Amino acid sequence: MAESSIADDYFDHLVEYGLAICKECRYGILPSQVKSHLQRAHRISRKQADSAAEEVSNWVGLVEYASELLVPEQVAQPIKYSQPSVYHIMGG
Ligand SMILES: [Zn+2]
Repeated sequence: MAESSIADDYFDHLVEYGLAICKECRYGILPSQVKSHLQRAHRISRKQADSAAEEVSNWVGLVEYASELLVPEQVAQPIKYSQPSVYHIMGG
């Protein structure tokens, strides 16, 4: 029962965005980057990094390429909706 995996120790699975988030760095890490991230940023052994990468690759729905990310970068910006509805007026 006390079995915890390296992947779970280091990453949160952000299901909504299909992303693994490094708990310590708060970075989204692509599956292909898990191994090198763990080795470089957290100095864990190659063997452990390997098994963590394998685990993360089994997580369902993760995006594999940065271009597939759906993280709403602009979400913090206010939405402008003050355009007057000219088109309605001119529509006829
Ligand atoms: Zn990290």
